[in-house]
Amino acid sequence: MGSIYGKNIREEYTERTENLMKCRICLKPWWEKGEISRMDVTFSFDGLKRYREDELCRMQLSAHMVPGCDALDFQARDELGDVDVEVSCSEPYPYRYKHFFLKRDLQGRVRVSYTVKPRPLLPTDRCAPYLDFRCEEGGATSGGGSILAIFGEIEGELSLSWDMSCMPAGSRGICAFGEGDFTMEGSLNRLRECYFALGQVKSVTSGDFGLYWITEPPFDIRAIAEYTRDLFAKMQDFFHDQESNYRIFARKDPYTHSGGSAMERSYMFGWNDTEPVSLENKKSILAHEMVHNWPHLCDEPFGITSWYSEGAAEYYSVVLPLRMGLISARTALEEIQKMTDDYYTNPTRHMENLEAAGICWEDRRAQKLPYGRGVFFLANTDVKIRHATRNKKSLDDVVLSLLDQARAGKVLGNESFLETVKEISGLDLTQDWETMRTGGHFAPLSGGFREDFMVTQKEAEEAGTGKKVVSYQWSAMDISADRLPQRL
Ligand SMILES: [Zn+2]
Repeated sequence: MGSIYGKNIREEYTERTENLMKCRICLKPWWEKGEISRMDVTFSFDGLKRYREDELCRMQLSAHMVPGCDALDFQARDELGDVDVEVSCSEPYPYRYKHFFLKRDLQGRVRVSYTVKPRPLLPTDRCAPYLDFRCEEGGATSGGGSILAIFGEIEGELSLSWDMSCMPAGSRGICAFGEGDFTMEGSLNRLRECYFALGQVKSVTSGDFGLYWITEPPFDIRAIAEYTRDLFAKMQDFFHDQESNYRIFARKDPYTHSGGSAMERSYMFGWNDTEPVSLENKKSILAHEMVHNWPHLCDEPFGITSWYSEGAAEYYSVVLPLRMGLISARTALEEIQKMTDDYYTNPTRHMENLEAAGICWEDRRAQKLPYGRGVFFLANTDVKIRHATRNKKSLDDVVLSLLDQARAGKVLGNESFLETVKEISGLDLTQDWETMRTGGHFAPLSGGFREDFMVTQKEAEEAGTGKKVVSYQWSAMDISADRLPQRL
């Protein structure tokens, strides 16, 4: 089971940055007939310089074919009174938006309020990225993008508060950046890009790290909390991360299949009544989603850099737990073999990256492509860099350098990756990268993932067609002597 989407779900909204603004957001959920029926959302700005015909904000009606929320009873007010707006819709793939345009200039303090309703679930719904505002017994969970309108690039002092006066006693409100009411400095979009949970939420927390769930699961969720807390501390160290917040949310799915999705400083994993769950079988998806917190490049247009975010998530979800002794070499080889079988037998493997992204929500086989080609391209890049620099440098240096560049505010794309590889190793991998991007065949190299991991060619059957195709078999010199994992 892999994850179903990466961190690259971002809007193409790149208009002005309005600095040093104060913004307060109040969320007021309503409990009716034994569930959350709706939530009132209010934004208050200490000033918002927008003029007649400007877009005031937009609401994400759907993303990646997952329904978001409409903004019901939409109202905008400023110091002159009510502000009329004109509404229109747009569909830049893979989003659907409702836009609110101003009919006059704004004046002074501005208040925008609306109501969102949880997504009604239909029997035909199936597992898709966890972006929706969805109820389960006792509460609800949501990606920020479904409940919070987009106001463009706004930075400043943000405060979030919860009004629980219409909820049962003991109700909680949590997002990745804090529990209950809090104030933070930063970009308003970070709140749209993280997870929320509300209602009768249970948790295991340790400082700013926490695992949250609503429905009590049949598996040992506390063991998962303990494992992920240790994993997070180690990954945070590896990726030179100074920020303390990180929160994981578990959601019960009404489906027969579940996945996981990563957002800002948080991720969500699903479970259901049919698929068995244990810490062992969740370890790789937990690691994959957690890695998404760090390596990524600007993904505009959608899918142009998902080979990097998904590839790095796959690569480090194996390599870091292996280096840390959290999984055995045998387990790592099993994971790598599964990635190999999935990619080289995938009938869509010769599609170009953007072409695959364009159909990925209709054809889930194409949706898996960035994972496989990304991970083997990165593992090969690591082998080549180590060879070229006599083991002085590795892929880690490239990934960490890109992270430093991103933290310094640089917008990074595919060329940044290639330039950084060249700076670090002297290698020009443009040709290899072109082969990967266009879906050309390339073999994984021995020494990828770990120096003693070997790979040989084998014949395999293409999934669904049975056609004979070239795939690969991984092995290691002597994995029986390998240390057992410290924690099972
Ligand atoms: Zn992913």
